[in-house]
Amino acid sequence: MTSYDHIVVGAGHNGLTAAAYLARAGRRVLVLERQGHVGGAAVSAQAFDGIDARLSRYSYLVSLLPRQIIEDLDLDVRLVRRRYSSYTPLPSDPSRGLLVDTGDAAATRASFRAVTGSDHDFDAWQRFYSRIAAIADRVWPTLLEPLRAAEAMRELAGDDDLWDAVTTRPLGALLRETFDDDLVRGVVATDGLIGTFADLDDPTLAANVCFLYHLIGGGTGDWDVPVGGMGAVSGALARAATQAGATIVTGASVRAVTADGEVVWEVDGREHHSRATVLAAVAPAVLERLLVAGGAEPLTAGPAPEGSQLKVNMLLRRLPRLADPDVDPVAAFSGTFHVHEGYAALQAGYAAAAAGRVVDPAPCEIYCHTLSDRSILGPDLAAGDAQTLTLFGLHVPARLFSADNDARREEALRVAMSALDSVLGEPLGPLLLRDASGRPCIEARTPLDLEADLGLPGGNIFHRGLQWPWAETPSEVGTWGVETPHPAVLIAAAGARRGGGVSGIPGHNAARAVLG
Ligand SMILES: Cc1cc2nc3c(=O)[nH]c(=O)nc-3n(C[C@H](O)[C@H](O)[C@H](O)COP(=O)(O)OP(=O)(O)OC[C@H]3O[C@@H](n4cnc5c(N)ncnc54)[C@H](O)[C@@H]3O)c2cc1C
Repeated sequence: MTSYDHIVVGAGHNGLTAAAYLARAGRRVLVLERQGHVGGAAVSAQAFDGIDARLSRYSYLVSLLPRQIIEDLDLDVRLVRRRYSSYTPLPSDPSRGLLVDTGDAAATRASFRAVTGSDHDFDAWQRFYSRIAAIADRVWPTLLEPLRAAEAMRELAGDDDLWDAVTTRPLGALLRETFDDDLVRGVVATDGLIGTFADLDDPTLAANVCFLYHLIGGGTGDWDVPVGGMGAVSGALARAATQAGATIVTGASVRAVTADGEVVWEVDGREHHSRATVLAAVAPAVLERLLVAGGAEPLTAGPAPEGSQLKVNMLLRRLPRLADPDVDPVAAFSGTFHVHEGYAALQAGYAAAAAGRVVDPAPCEIYCHTLSDRSILGPDLAAGDAQTLTLFGLHVPARLFSADNDARREEALRVAMSALDSVLGEPLGPLLLRDASGRPCIEARTPLDLEADLGLPGGNIFHRGLQWPWAETPSEVGTWGVETPHPAVLIAAAGARRGGGVSGIPGHNAARAVLG
């Protein structure tokens, strides 16, 4: 059997990134992937039988993938910037809504005035996001460098007041001080709640960490549309890895990893062994299981991860009409369309979900890929009015589904669709296309479904709770945030410090740690 310098466990986009960097550095690299295809949570898939549309089935927008990685690896990845940032109908009167148009400040000011009754929140919004952008510009490049101490990062960020507000006090306090209007506060707050089940006043600052990552990507915080869907990103990374000489084996389930780098895996019922530096591009909880199976002491993995979202994919004959006669559905759906995500509704939703209930009305956000990129549709669909819609529901923790996943999935889907219908000018159901068997083109995935589909522990889309992008202990300063207690084993996926999201950052950082 060929021997390898490095074995990458898992061919999600991070494993592929690590493999591409290592193979380009001349190392012999083997990538082992349990599933029959690469990409993990960053894939495109034909979700509906007989319907020629390749949807970004799980992750869908890109912000955290550094340009440097795209250039270093010569990736053929094209990202489209969206002109409309968001649209948010007033839940109490959906015939009016807040449209944030980055291409027209005057129209956005007028929309704020119409919804909030003054210029205060528009001015506060402009100031807030320009200060955040200045911080993002300075902090973002450090994500591909060894970890800095917290104080060094604060100095670099250069805006002590805002930095301290974002990183030391609950996010809710900052939002209440900065914005007057409940709807505006809620729109800003959602960036702290993506995949993160948190009270905005939570002293652990879980929402703050999530918020920071959602605002620093690319140094601007823009969330762009990957042309060809998310599978195009993973596909480009897989090509970069194989063209540089890495071997990728799919259908290869890793069973055990020893502390000194012996990997045991199975393909078609046959067991294989090899020893190398191991880049574990799987969740820390998965690595923990593999190491224990390999006879190592358990790592201190922290609390069990828990995801908190409902993902719904849909395919429509055409976009629905809005309840708001003044806004074009094309504008409303091409950015993030917020539904029932006012600040008070988000907080009430957290409390209801924490008490074990499916939140009704469901706070959720919608996005349409095909308004920015029709290449994911086959020619017949692309030539017509068909559109994809993605719904991402907040405050939907895995614990809600543990007793009966199927029944709760139905309930969560029903309340999410009725929340969406409540702000539209017509019901969405009749607009769904039908698959080859006549079923409506809609699929919903709960956190437990994501655990079953993708092996995400607890359905956590970031593998575990996100962590601040700096060293939290003196011994971490100067490391890459990917190290484990075992020198031959590194974490190369979303659970690394500065992981989470489609970024390739942990893959890059693990490769850099290995290459020295
Ligand atoms: C529904 C959803 C929506 C999301 N939306 C966005 C978004 O819009 N933008 C964004 O930036 N992020 C988003 N995310 C998060 C993002 O997709 C993930 O954080 C990221 O893709 C993780 O990539 P990864 O390579 O680190 O891990 P993964 O993609 O989880 O890959 C891990 C791989 O390891 C494999 N594996 C596991 N165990 C074994 C084993 N024993 N042997 C071999 N292989 C194994 C798995 O099969 C998998 O392929 C979303 C995630 C989900 C689930």
